[in-house]
Amino acid sequence: MIYLKTKEEVELLRENNLLVSATLAEVGRHIKPGVTTLELDRIAEEFIRSHGAVPGFLGYGGFPNTLCVSVNENVVHGIPSDYALHEGDIVSVDCGTVLKGFYGDSAYTFAVGEVAPEVAQLLKVTKEALKKGVEQAVAGKRVGDISAAVQQHAEQFGYGVVRELVGHGLGRNMHEDPEVPNYGRRGHGPLLKEGMVICIEPMINMGTKSVVFERDGWTVRTKDRKPSAHFEYAVAIRNGEADVLTDFGLIEAALGIG
Ligand code: MG
Ligand code: MG
Repeated sequence: MIYLKTKEEVELLRENNLLVSATLAEVGRHIKPGVTTLELDRIAEEFIRSHGAVPGFLGYGGFPNTLCVSVNENVVHGIPSDYALHEGDIVSVDCGTVLKGFYGDSAYTFAVGEVAPEVAQLLKVTKEALKKGVEQAVAGKRVGDISAAVQQHAEQFGYGVVRELVGHGLGRNMHEDPEVPNYGRRGHGPLLKEGMVICIEPMINMGTKSVVFERDGWTVRTKDRKPSAHFEYAVAIRNGEADVLTDFGLIEAALGIG
């Protein structure tokens, strides 16, 4: 069942997703060699609570932390730990909030210092794939139009598009219908309508699309242990157009890029 949102509900979702973006910006300011992923988690939790919200992932399905932090070959759902980031790592940080009864959810993959050129390209192309998907998120198109746009952009670079994990609707629940895969066929899938709010979140691997679910019950990593990137936007369909509720500009201003 797809819940369509009123204008007021979309604004509450925007408030949440801007808080997620601000949290990711705050995390980004602290990303450097030597910082542990658990320190990043603590920074995010304090930031979210100081803004009157609650971490959206903490306790969700039993998840133990505020952030999902996935380094290098880890795709998503990494558990913060005492691992200290190294120069040349990439780190996907996925963050959720709950405020005023609605969820925020978005993710950004950060480079730790200088990364190898092929890794920088993976980050760039994954972010581009997200934006190609957003261009299709307009009333009258279908979820498959988003999926195909993301897949086509990533695969032309020889990258693997993860199949096992997908984007989703967002609202009073973190995971609502419809599912938004990063692979698919144009003209197929649910019709996109005014008031839908979805998370588009390409998970793109440098090598094989195959992933392994680790024994910690959470972490998903690439089968070939090559790196993976993940960027996520929450997007509303408003006045027929894609209205991105996430603001990577906050993150990139904090990093001094973009
Ligand atoms: Mg999501
Ligand atoms: Mg997310």
